[in-house]
Amino acid sequence: MIEEKIKRLKEEMNAVILAHNYQRGEVQRIADFRGDSLELARKAKNLDAEYIVFAGVDFMAETAKILNPDKHVLIPSRAATCEMANYLSAERVREFRRKYPDAAVVLYVNSTAEAKAEADITCTSANAIKVVNSLPNDTVLFGPDSNLASYVQEHTEKRIIPLPPEGRCYVHNSFDPDEIPRDGIVMVHPECPKEIRDLGDVVASTGGMVKFVRNSREKRFIVVTERDMVERLKLEFPDREFVPGWQGATCLGMKKITLEGIYRSLRDKKYEVMVPEEIAKRARRAIERMLEVS
Ligand code: SF4
Repeated sequence: MIEEKIKRLKEEMNAVILAHNYQRGEVQRIADFRGDSLELARKAKNLDAEYIVFAGVDFMAETAKILNPDKHVLIPSRAATCEMANYLSAERVREFRRKYPDAAVVLYVNSTAEAKAEADITCTSANAIKVVNSLPNDTVLFGPDSNLASYVQEHTEKRIIPLPPEGRCYVHNSFDPDEIPRDGIVMVHPECPKEIRDLGDVVASTGGMVKFVRNSREKRFIVVTERDMVERLKLEFPDREFVPGWQGATCLGMKKITLEGIYRSLRDKKYEVMVPEEIAKRARRAIERMLEVS
């Protein structure tokens, strides 16, 4: 079985597999650690392994490499990428900085290493409000997700300027309010537009959803984020019921990772993630500043 072959190689190579909550169920089950971007960034920082195989999209693997310059970080598919992260260039960040010289730049970890290198600090959907409120600046340039920027604006006195105003995740933007089931506790990710967030009994990052369910006595939950978050929740809480907000909410980048791809990645030691040190150094400062705050 392929799972057995992966386990054997992993042990031989002193490798660990980190999987994001949006990975296919079978990939999440084989992983050593599962989590949201913040949990995986923290985990990546403290790993005692020679190889890290990142089952997620490229900006997550880059973050793991930036925090672990001496380890080999592998991503099983070069096509595992995030459209929203790729949309914001480093030049666009510099352009906004010139326009708003007194503003702090907060970038969601869903951004490229080059863009992160231009940021004062990074954030995830789990800690965005805390990160923004920790800054001395009254104005914050926040990107690349304008929905998350509007969510943060609802929870801070500071002025939040979305960078760029049109940045959005197509997965979280794909929900139809009339199609979301209401026969359970509705948990909505803050990357969704306001009209969808307003339907939620709770608005939370994927890590926040896990904590919410753990502390709840309810039995049935509607999960309004990428559909495979349901797989993570089922793994964690087999006695509860989880229903995706919409079956079509699929992140194509995340689905490029398969068990076969993970096996080949370990066997052939590919694809190794590299970040030029000049970029990594500046991006690391922004990521570590976030880890100190949250
Ligand atoms: S779900 Fe959206 S933000 Fe997350 S990796 Fe996929 S495209 Fe990017």
